[in-house]
Amino acid sequence: MTSTIRRKHCVRKDIGGRSPLPNSRLLTPAKKILQARARINRQRFGIRCLLVLIVKSQESAIRKKEAFMRLNERQQAVFMQRTDTWYQRLKRRAQAAGQTLDYPLADLRHYVFHNLGRHHCHYCCGPVDPGTFEIDAKIPPERGGSFNFHNMAVVCKDCGQAKGWLDHFEYRELISLLRSWAPRIRRNFIARLQAGRNIPLHLNHDGRVSGE
Ligand SMILES: [Zn+2]
Repeated sequence: MTSTIRRKHCVRKDIGGRSPLPNSRLLTPAKKILQARARINRQRFGIRCLLVLIVKSQESAIRKKEAFMRLNERQQAVFMQRTDTWYQRLKRRAQAAGQTLDYPLADLRHYVFHNLGRHHCHYCCGPVDPGTFEIDAKIPPERGGSFNFHNMAVVCKDCGQAKGWLDHFEYRELISLLRSWAPRIRRNFIARLQAGRNIPLHLNHDGRVSGE
């Protein structure tokens, strides 16, 4: 009886009782209703998803703005000025190396802003603030690193000045070694590294510092 009813609903009268579809694709009214409901739900869900995304992005923009407003006026001005200075500096360095930056100033600001905080240094988890942050190349350009966004890290002033030509793996190893030393010795060693930062290294063809 059920199969008779189903057949009755499935058969199209306008083509002489023959269905244009194979049996597996026959649609009963119930299936049609279910499919229609599913389609409507998909559309509704899609619209709801879109609305949720829009609301979330608006909330995120508001949160960012609020976080930025938590910096006082002087910090905001310093942040804007230092990010601009860093961007121009990196741009010049990239041009000198025959490269271009693959990100605009706004991306740099966004990245730096999200890495400000008491424990945000990429290497030592020290404080990073608008007045002292530095931009570091994880793999120094002098050793084949690029000026691309993915090679960039926001670091504290001490790390920015001490890392020099070490790559990020080597510098992390150095930091873990330094942590096992007495604080006084550690400070002395870091001061020596920072002092030597501006001394250019002239490597011989065999990789040794000239004069060795
Ligand atoms: Zn650091």
